[in-house]
Amino acid sequence: MNPLATIRACTFLKEIFVFMARVCEVCGRGPRFGHRISHAHNVSKRRWNLNLHTVRAMVKGATRRLRVCTSCIRSGKIQKAA
Ligand SMILES: [Zn+2]
Repeated sequence: MNPLATIRACTFLKEIFVFMARVCEVCGRGPRFGHRISHAHNVSKRRWNLNLHTVRAMVKGATRRLRVCTSCIRSGKIQKAA
């Protein structure tokens, strides 16, 4: 494999990893993508991440650490561990 392809593959994997790390484990929502538009109307890519928190929660009677978005925490979709 040539070095450029290796770098491309690594970048791709890194993007997947960063994306996966930004997904809520309850509702499955991830980052949303859009454009940043300057006053001069220069358009560049941007993303909105979820507000994720690691919480200890009861899942099937066992305590697990989950990465959960704040909207799921607020709406009571998880049962916090005692
Ligand atoms: Zn969620």
